[in-house]
Amino acid sequence: MSRNYLIFIIIFIFFSASHLPAQDMVRVNEVIDTLCSPEMYGRGYTYHGDKIAANYIATQFKNAGLKSYTNDYSQPFQLNINIFPDDLALKIGKRTLIPGKEFIMDPSSGGFIGKGKIIPVDTLIFSDSNALKAFLKVDIKGQALVLDQKFEKFIYDLPRPGIAHLLQAGALLILTEKLTFGASRNQLQIAKFQVLKDCYPEKAKKAIFQVEAVLHKFYKTQNLVGYIPGTTKPDSIIIVCAHYDHLGTMGQNVYFPGANDNASGVAMLLEIAHKYGKNPLPYTLVFIAFGAEEAGLVGSHYFTQYPLFELSKTRFVVNLDLFGTGEEGMMVVNGKALTKEFEWIKQINEENKYLPAIKKRGQAANSDHYFFSQNGVPAFFFYLMGDWPNYHDINDVPNLPLTKFSGAYNLINDFIEKLSTNHVK
Ligand SMILES: [Zn+2]
Repeated sequence: MSRNYLIFIIIFIFFSASHLPAQDMVRVNEVIDTLCSPEMYGRGYTYHGDKIAANYIATQFKNAGLKSYTNDYSQPFQLNINIFPDDLALKIGKRTLIPGKEFIMDPSSGGFIGKGKIIPVDTLIFSDSNALKAFLKVDIKGQALVLDQKFEKFIYDLPRPGIAHLLQAGALLILTEKLTFGASRNQLQIAKFQVLKDCYPEKAKKAIFQVEAVLHKFYKTQNLVGYIPGTTKPDSIIIVCAHYDHLGTMGQNVYFPGANDNASGVAMLLEIAHKYGKNPLPYTLVFIAFGAEEAGLVGSHYFTQYPLFELSKTRFVVNLDLFGTGEEGMMVVNGKALTKEFEWIKQINEENKYLPAIKKRGQAANSDHYFFSQNGVPAFFFYLMGDWPNYHDINDVPNLPLTKFSGAYNLINDFIEKLSTNHVK
Protein backbone atom coordinates (compact mmCIF):
# COMPACT_ATOMS: atom_id res chain seq x y z
CA MET A 1 0.00 0.00 0.00
CA SER A 2 1.41 3.38 -0.96
CA ARG A 3 2.19 5.88 1.76
CA ASN A 4 -0.15 8.51 0.30
CA TYR A 5 -2.98 6.04 0.14
CA LEU A 6 -2.39 5.14 3.78
CA ILE A 7 -2.45 8.81 4.81
CA PHE A 8 -5.67 9.23 2.82
CA ILE A 9 -7.28 6.34 4.72
CA ILE A 10 -6.14 7.73 8.07
CA ILE A 11 -7.53 11.18 7.23
CA PHE A 12 -10.75 9.59 5.97
CA ILE A 13 -11.18 7.58 9.19
CA PHE A 14 -10.40 10.63 11.29
CA PHE A 15 -13.00 12.78 9.56
CA SER A 16 -15.72 10.15 9.46
CA ALA A 17 -15.21 9.43 13.17
CA SER A 18 -15.42 13.10 14.06
CA HIS A 19 -18.80 13.34 12.33
CA LEU A 20 -20.33 10.57 14.42
CA PRO A 21 -21.81 11.83 17.64
CA ALA A 22 -19.66 9.96 20.15
CA GLN A 23 -19.07 10.41 23.82
CA ASP A 24 -16.52 13.03 24.73
CA MET A 25 -14.07 11.54 27.24
CA VAL A 26 -12.62 14.96 28.07
CA ARG A 27 -16.08 16.10 29.14
CA VAL A 28 -16.73 12.79 30.97
CA ASN A 29 -13.59 13.25 33.07
CA GLU A 30 -14.35 16.91 33.65
CA VAL A 31 -17.85 16.10 34.91
CA ILE A 32 -16.55 13.35 37.23
CA ASP A 33 -13.71 15.56 38.53
CA THR A 34 -16.07 18.47 39.18
CA LEU A 35 -18.71 16.38 40.95
CA CYS A 36 -15.98 14.84 43.14
CA SER A 37 -14.17 18.09 43.92
CA PRO A 38 -14.00 19.37 47.54
CA GLU A 39 -16.25 22.29 46.51
CA MET A 40 -19.15 19.82 46.16
CA TYR A 41 -18.66 18.48 49.72
CA GLY A 42 -19.40 14.91 48.67
CA ARG A 43 -22.82 15.95 47.28
CA GLY A 44 -24.43 15.47 50.68
CA TYR A 45 -26.19 17.78 53.12
CA THR A 46 -23.38 19.40 55.12
CA TYR A 47 -22.51 22.81 53.63
CA HIS A 48 -25.30 22.31 51.04
CA GLY A 49 -23.17 20.08 48.84
CA ASP A 50 -26.35 18.73 47.27
CA LYS A 51 -27.42 22.20 46.12
CA ILE A 52 -24.01 23.08 44.67
CA ALA A 53 -24.01 19.81 42.70
CA ALA A 54 -27.62 20.40 41.58
CA ASN A 55 -26.79 23.86 40.22
CA TYR A 56 -23.87 22.40 38.27
CA ILE A 57 -26.03 19.64 36.80
CA ALA A 58 -28.75 22.14 35.84
CA THR A 59 -26.12 24.07 33.85
CA GLN A 60 -25.05 20.83 32.17
CA PHE A 61 -28.69 20.04 31.30
CA LYS A 62 -28.98 23.48 29.72
CA ASN A 63 -25.76 23.01 27.74
CA ALA A 64 -27.06 19.70 26.43
CA GLY A 65 -30.18 21.48 25.15
CA LEU A 66 -32.68 19.88 27.53
CA LYS A 67 -36.05 21.50 28.16
CA SER A 68 -37.40 21.92 31.68
CA TYR A 69 -40.83 21.07 33.08
CA THR A 70 -40.16 23.41 36.02
CA ASN A 71 -38.02 26.33 37.00
CA ASP A 72 -34.34 25.43 36.44
CA TYR A 73 -35.03 21.69 36.08
CA SER A 74 -35.56 21.43 39.83
CA GLN A 75 -38.12 19.23 41.56
CA PRO A 76 -37.78 20.02 45.27
CA PHE A 77 -38.61 17.60 48.07
CA GLN A 78 -37.72 17.23 51.75
CA LEU A 79 -36.21 14.61 53.99
CA ASN A 80 -34.89 14.18 57.52
CA ILE A 81 -31.17 13.57 57.45
CA ASN A 82 -28.52 12.92 60.11
CA ILE A 83 -25.35 14.97 59.53
CA PHE A 84 -21.95 15.57 61.13
CA PRO A 85 -21.22 19.25 60.53
CA ASP A 86 -18.15 19.59 62.79
CA ASP A 87 -14.78 17.89 62.71
CA LEU A 88 -14.60 14.65 64.65
CA ALA A 89 -12.08 13.37 67.13
CA LEU A 90 -11.55 9.94 68.63
CA LYS A 91 -8.67 8.98 70.91
CA ILE A 92 -8.46 5.41 72.12
CA GLY A 93 -5.85 4.93 74.87
CA LYS A 94 -2.85 6.90 73.63
CA ARG A 95 -3.77 6.65 69.96
CA THR A 96 -5.49 9.51 68.15
CA LEU A 97 -7.31 7.98 65.21
CA ILE A 98 -7.55 9.70 61.83
CA PRO A 99 -11.16 10.40 60.76
CA GLY A 100 -12.07 8.89 57.39
CA LYS A 101 -8.99 6.65 57.29
CA GLU A 102 -9.00 4.89 60.65
CA PHE A 103 -12.54 5.46 61.84
CA ILE A 104 -15.84 6.85 60.62
CA MET A 105 -19.23 7.40 62.19
CA ASP A 106 -22.09 5.05 61.69
CA PRO A 107 -24.44 7.20 59.53
CA SER A 108 -27.15 7.04 62.19
CA SER A 109 -24.82 7.91 65.07
CA GLY A 110 -25.79 10.36 67.76
CA GLY A 111 -23.31 12.87 69.17
CA PHE A 112 -21.03 12.51 72.18
CA ILE A 113 -18.46 14.82 73.65
CA GLY A 114 -16.58 13.40 76.62
CA LYS A 115 -14.62 10.37 77.74
CA GLY A 116 -15.44 6.87 78.81
CA LYS A 117 -14.02 3.64 80.11
CA ILE A 118 -13.65 0.93 77.47
CA ILE A 119 -15.86 -2.10 78.10
CA PRO A 120 -15.66 -5.01 75.64
CA VAL A 121 -19.12 -6.50 75.10
CA ASP A 122 -19.21 -10.15 76.20
CA THR A 123 -20.52 -11.77 73.01
CA LEU A 124 -22.11 -14.55 75.05
CA ILE A 125 -24.94 -12.10 75.83
CA PHE A 126 -26.32 -12.87 72.37
CA SER A 127 -26.76 -16.59 73.08
CA ASP A 128 -26.65 -17.13 76.85
CA SER A 129 -29.31 -15.63 79.14
CA ASN A 130 -27.03 -15.78 82.21
CA ALA A 131 -24.37 -13.76 80.40
CA LEU A 132 -27.07 -11.25 79.43
CA LYS A 133 -28.23 -11.02 83.07
CA ALA A 134 -24.66 -10.31 84.16
CA PHE A 135 -24.33 -7.65 81.43
CA LEU A 136 -27.48 -5.90 82.64
CA LYS A 137 -25.80 -5.41 86.01
CA VAL A 138 -22.68 -3.72 84.62
CA ASP A 139 -22.77 0.06 84.95
CA ILE A 140 -22.12 1.21 81.39
CA LYS A 141 -23.59 4.73 81.62
CA GLY A 142 -21.49 7.10 79.54
CA GLN A 143 -18.86 4.41 78.85
CA ALA A 144 -17.54 3.03 75.55
CA LEU A 145 -18.69 -0.46 74.52
CA VAL A 146 -16.52 -2.34 72.02
CA LEU A 147 -17.88 -5.03 69.72
CA ASP A 148 -16.63 -6.87 66.64
CA GLN A 149 -18.72 -6.18 63.52
CA LYS A 150 -19.44 -9.93 63.21
CA PHE A 151 -21.78 -9.57 66.19
CA GLU A 152 -23.35 -6.22 65.33
CA LYS A 153 -26.41 -7.76 63.69
CA PHE A 154 -27.25 -9.72 66.86
CA ILE A 155 -27.81 -6.47 68.79
CA TYR A 156 -31.23 -6.15 67.14
CA ASP A 157 -32.21 -9.64 68.34
CA LEU A 158 -31.53 -8.84 71.99
CA PRO A 159 -34.58 -8.71 74.25
CA ARG A 160 -35.84 -5.18 74.95
CA PRO A 161 -34.10 -4.72 78.35
CA GLY A 162 -30.80 -5.72 76.69
CA ILE A 163 -31.16 -3.06 73.98
CA ALA A 164 -32.32 -0.42 76.50
CA HIS A 165 -29.29 -1.17 78.68
CA LEU A 166 -26.89 -1.01 75.76
CA LEU A 167 -28.23 2.40 74.74
CA GLN A 168 -27.18 3.82 78.11
CA ALA A 169 -23.56 3.67 77.02
CA GLY A 170 -21.98 6.85 75.70
CA ALA A 171 -20.51 5.24 72.62
CA LEU A 172 -20.44 1.99 70.74
CA LEU A 173 -17.19 1.16 68.91
CA ILE A 174 -17.68 -1.39 66.15
CA LEU A 175 -14.41 -2.98 65.05
CA THR A 176 -14.38 -3.65 61.31
CA GLU A 177 -12.11 -4.67 58.42
CA LYS A 178 -13.54 -2.03 56.04
CA LEU A 179 -15.05 1.37 56.77
CA THR A 180 -18.34 1.81 54.90
CA PHE A 181 -20.30 5.04 55.30
CA GLY A 182 -23.94 5.70 54.38
CA ALA A 183 -26.75 8.21 54.88
CA SER A 184 -29.41 7.96 57.56
CA ARG A 185 -32.78 9.61 58.13
CA ASN A 186 -32.72 8.68 61.83
CA GLN A 187 -30.41 9.33 64.74
CA LEU A 188 -29.52 6.83 67.46
CA GLN A 189 -29.43 7.82 71.12
CA ILE A 190 -25.83 6.64 71.22
CA ALA A 191 -22.64 7.64 69.39
CA LYS A 192 -21.67 4.77 67.11
CA PHE A 193 -18.26 4.51 65.49
CA GLN A 194 -16.74 2.14 62.96
CA VAL A 195 -13.08 1.59 63.84
CA LEU A 196 -10.60 -0.25 61.63
CA LYS A 197 -9.44 -3.37 63.46
CA ASP A 198 -5.81 -2.74 62.52
CA CYS A 199 -5.90 0.66 64.20
CA TYR A 200 -7.54 -0.38 67.43
CA PRO A 201 -5.12 -0.45 70.40
CA GLU A 202 -6.16 -3.69 72.13
CA LYS A 203 -5.00 -2.77 75.62
CA ALA A 204 -6.54 0.69 75.80
CA LYS A 205 -8.57 1.42 78.92
CA LYS A 206 -10.14 4.76 78.03
CA ALA A 207 -11.40 6.67 75.02
CA ILE A 208 -12.08 10.35 74.36
CA PHE A 209 -14.81 11.40 71.94
CA GLN A 210 -15.85 14.51 70.13
CA VAL A 211 -18.77 14.08 67.76
CA GLU A 212 -21.56 16.46 66.98
CA ALA A 213 -24.51 14.95 65.16
CA VAL A 214 -27.50 16.94 63.91
CA LEU A 215 -30.72 15.36 62.77
CA HIS A 216 -31.78 17.96 60.21
CA LYS A 217 -35.58 17.79 59.88
CA PHE A 218 -37.28 18.53 56.54
CA TYR A 219 -34.03 19.34 54.75
CA LYS A 220 -34.88 20.73 51.30
CA THR A 221 -33.12 18.93 48.48
CA GLN A 222 -34.06 18.24 44.86
CA ASN A 223 -34.25 16.04 41.78
CA LEU A 224 -33.29 17.53 38.41
CA VAL A 225 -35.50 16.74 35.45
CA GLY A 226 -34.93 17.72 31.81
CA TYR A 227 -36.31 16.39 28.55
CA ILE A 228 -35.97 16.21 24.77
CA PRO A 229 -39.39 16.15 23.06
CA GLY A 230 -39.94 13.18 20.74
CA THR A 231 -40.17 13.95 17.01
CA THR A 232 -43.12 11.72 16.08
CA LYS A 233 -44.30 10.00 19.29
CA PRO A 234 -43.78 12.62 22.00
CA ASP A 235 -46.33 10.96 24.29
CA SER A 236 -44.16 7.88 24.63
CA ILE A 237 -41.38 8.43 27.12
CA ILE A 238 -38.05 6.83 27.90
CA ILE A 239 -36.53 7.88 31.23
CA VAL A 240 -32.75 7.86 31.65
CA CYS A 241 -31.80 8.44 35.28
CA ALA A 242 -28.81 8.45 37.62
CA HIS A 243 -28.49 9.65 41.20
CA TYR A 244 -26.13 12.58 41.75
CA ASP A 245 -26.16 12.66 45.55
CA HIS A 246 -23.52 10.92 47.64
CA LEU A 247 -22.59 10.75 51.33
CA GLY A 248 -21.42 14.28 52.02
CA THR A 249 -18.80 14.99 54.67
CA MET A 250 -17.90 14.29 58.27
CA GLY A 251 -16.92 17.79 59.37
CA GLN A 252 -14.95 20.10 57.09
CA ASN A 253 -11.93 17.94 56.41
CA VAL A 254 -13.31 14.51 55.55
CA TYR A 255 -15.51 14.08 52.52
CA PHE A 256 -16.78 11.21 50.40
CA PRO A 257 -16.15 11.97 46.70
CA GLY A 258 -18.36 9.20 45.23
CA ALA A 259 -16.60 8.93 41.86
CA ASN A 260 -17.86 5.50 40.89
CA ASP A 261 -21.01 6.01 43.00
CA ASN A 262 -22.32 7.89 41.14
CA ALA A 263 -20.43 10.71 39.42
CA SER A 264 -19.71 8.08 36.74
CA GLY A 265 -23.42 7.42 36.12
CA VAL A 266 -24.21 11.15 35.96
CA ALA A 267 -21.39 11.58 33.41
CA MET A 268 -22.95 8.79 31.32
CA LEU A 269 -26.41 10.37 31.58
CA LEU A 270 -25.02 13.74 30.44
CA GLU A 271 -23.25 12.17 27.44
CA ILE A 272 -26.51 10.52 26.37
CA ALA A 273 -28.31 13.86 26.85
CA HIS A 274 -25.74 15.64 24.68
CA LYS A 275 -26.13 13.07 21.92
CA TYR A 276 -29.92 13.23 21.66
CA GLY A 277 -30.14 16.94 22.45
CA LYS A 278 -28.84 17.40 18.90
CA ASN A 279 -30.57 14.39 17.36
CA PRO A 280 -33.98 13.83 18.94
CA LEU A 281 -35.63 10.41 18.74
CA PRO A 282 -39.28 9.62 17.88
CA TYR A 283 -39.97 9.13 21.62
CA THR A 284 -39.52 11.81 24.29
CA LEU A 285 -36.38 11.28 26.36
CA VAL A 286 -36.57 12.39 29.99
CA PHE A 287 -33.34 12.76 31.95
CA ILE A 288 -33.48 12.69 35.75
CA ALA A 289 -30.62 13.25 38.15
CA PHE A 290 -32.09 11.94 41.40
CA GLY A 291 -31.28 13.33 44.83
CA ALA A 292 -31.16 11.46 48.16
CA GLU A 293 -30.69 7.99 46.69
CA GLU A 294 -28.17 7.10 49.36
CA ALA A 295 -30.65 8.02 52.12
CA GLY A 296 -33.00 5.28 50.87
CA LEU A 297 -34.11 6.07 47.27
CA VAL A 298 -35.92 9.16 48.57
CA GLY A 299 -35.77 11.27 45.38
CA SER A 300 -36.95 8.55 43.01
CA HIS A 301 -39.68 7.51 45.43
CA TYR A 302 -40.86 11.12 45.52
CA PHE A 303 -40.81 11.33 41.72
CA THR A 304 -42.96 8.21 41.32
CA GLN A 305 -45.46 9.75 43.76
CA TYR A 306 -45.38 13.19 42.12
CA PRO A 307 -44.33 12.62 38.50
CA LEU A 308 -44.09 15.63 36.17
CA PHE A 309 -45.99 13.71 33.47
CA GLU A 310 -48.29 10.72 33.53
CA LEU A 311 -46.11 7.78 34.56
CA SER A 312 -48.19 5.48 32.37
CA LYS A 313 -46.68 7.17 29.29
CA THR A 314 -43.30 5.73 30.22
CA ARG A 315 -42.20 2.98 27.85
CA PHE A 316 -39.03 2.23 29.83
CA VAL A 317 -36.67 3.43 32.57
CA VAL A 318 -32.91 3.07 32.20
CA ASN A 319 -31.19 3.68 35.56
CA LEU A 320 -27.42 4.19 35.60
CA ASP A 321 -25.39 3.73 38.78
CA LEU A 322 -21.68 2.72 39.01
CA PHE A 323 -20.10 3.23 35.57
CA GLY A 324 -16.43 3.49 36.50
CA THR A 325 -15.24 0.02 35.40
CA GLY A 326 -16.56 -2.59 32.95
CA GLU A 327 -13.79 -5.17 32.42
CA GLU A 328 -16.18 -7.80 33.81
CA GLY A 329 -19.13 -6.54 31.79
CA MET A 330 -22.50 -5.09 32.76
CA MET A 331 -25.25 -6.25 35.12
CA VAL A 332 -28.89 -5.80 34.18
CA VAL A 333 -31.07 -5.69 37.29
CA ASN A 334 -34.60 -6.81 36.28
CA GLY A 335 -33.10 -8.66 33.30
CA LYS A 336 -34.70 -11.83 34.66
CA ALA A 337 -38.16 -10.25 34.72
CA LEU A 338 -38.14 -8.31 31.41
CA THR A 339 -36.84 -11.05 29.16
CA LYS A 340 -37.67 -9.48 25.78
CA GLU A 341 -35.74 -6.28 26.44
CA PHE A 342 -32.92 -8.25 28.05
CA GLU A 343 -32.60 -10.33 24.86
CA TRP A 344 -32.38 -7.09 22.82
CA ILE A 345 -29.45 -5.96 24.94
CA LYS A 346 -27.69 -9.30 24.59
CA GLN A 347 -28.24 -9.27 20.85
CA ILE A 348 -26.99 -5.69 20.43
CA ASN A 349 -23.92 -6.59 22.45
CA GLU A 350 -23.23 -9.80 20.52
CA GLU A 351 -23.47 -8.00 17.18
CA ASN A 352 -21.19 -5.12 18.19
CA LYS A 353 -18.96 -6.64 20.88
CA TYR A 354 -19.35 -3.55 23.08
CA LEU A 355 -18.84 -5.29 26.44
CA PRO A 356 -17.18 -8.56 27.54
CA ALA A 357 -20.33 -9.87 29.29
CA ILE A 358 -23.96 -9.05 29.98
CA LYS A 359 -25.45 -10.55 33.14
CA LYS A 360 -28.91 -10.44 34.64
CA ARG A 361 -30.52 -10.34 38.07
CA GLY A 362 -34.05 -10.19 39.41
CA GLN A 363 -35.72 -7.21 41.06
CA ALA A 364 -33.66 -5.55 43.81
CA ALA A 365 -34.27 -2.41 45.88
CA ASN A 366 -30.69 -1.26 45.38
CA SER A 367 -31.09 1.87 43.24
CA ASP A 368 -33.55 4.34 41.69
CA HIS A 369 -35.23 1.94 39.23
CA TYR A 370 -36.94 0.22 42.20
CA PHE A 371 -40.00 2.42 42.77
CA PHE A 372 -40.66 2.58 39.03
CA SER A 373 -40.81 -1.22 38.92
CA GLN A 374 -43.03 -1.21 42.00
CA ASN A 375 -45.40 1.15 40.15
CA GLY A 376 -45.58 -1.13 37.11
CA VAL A 377 -43.20 0.91 34.94
CA PRO A 378 -40.70 -1.36 33.16
CA ALA A 379 -37.21 -0.49 34.35
CA PHE A 380 -33.65 -1.76 34.09
CA PHE A 381 -30.81 -0.83 36.39
CA PHE A 382 -27.44 -1.07 34.64
CA TYR A 383 -24.12 -1.16 36.48
CA LEU A 384 -20.65 -1.99 35.22
CA MET A 385 -18.56 -4.63 36.94
CA GLY A 386 -14.81 -4.67 37.43
CA ASP A 387 -11.97 -3.82 39.71
CA TRP A 388 -12.87 -0.89 42.01
CA PRO A 389 -12.97 -1.88 45.67
CA ASN A 390 -13.69 1.66 46.94
CA TYR A 391 -17.32 1.68 47.99
CA HIS A 392 -18.84 4.32 50.29
CA ASP A 393 -15.42 5.36 51.58
CA ILE A 394 -13.00 8.26 51.11
CA ASN A 395 -11.09 6.34 48.43
CA ASP A 396 -13.86 6.44 45.80
CA VAL A 397 -11.88 9.19 44.08
CA PRO A 398 -11.85 10.20 40.42
CA ASN A 399 -9.12 8.00 39.02
CA LEU A 400 -11.61 5.45 37.78
CA PRO A 401 -10.45 2.97 35.14
CA LEU A 402 -13.49 3.79 32.89
CA THR A 403 -12.45 0.66 30.99
CA LYS A 404 -15.72 0.08 29.15
CA PHE A 405 -17.38 3.47 29.47
CA SER A 406 -17.38 3.93 25.73
CA GLY A 407 -18.73 0.42 25.02
CA ALA A 408 -21.49 0.91 27.59
CA TYR A 409 -22.35 4.30 26.06
CA ASN A 410 -22.83 2.73 22.62
CA LEU A 411 -24.80 -0.20 24.01
CA ILE A 412 -27.19 2.00 26.00
CA ASN A 413 -27.77 4.31 23.01
CA ASP A 414 -28.50 1.37 20.70
CA PHE A 415 -30.93 0.03 23.30
CA ILE A 416 -32.69 3.39 23.70
CA GLU A 417 -32.98 3.73 19.92
CA LYS A 418 -34.44 0.25 19.63
CA LEU A 419 -36.97 1.07 22.37
CA SER A 420 -37.86 4.27 20.53
CA THR A 421 -38.47 2.63 17.15
CA ASN A 422 -40.34 -0.52 18.25
CA HIS A 423 -43.72 0.93 19.01
CA VAL A 424 -44.86 -1.86 21.25
CA LYS A 425 -46.22 -1.29 24.66
ZN1 LIG B 1 -25.16 4.64 43.93
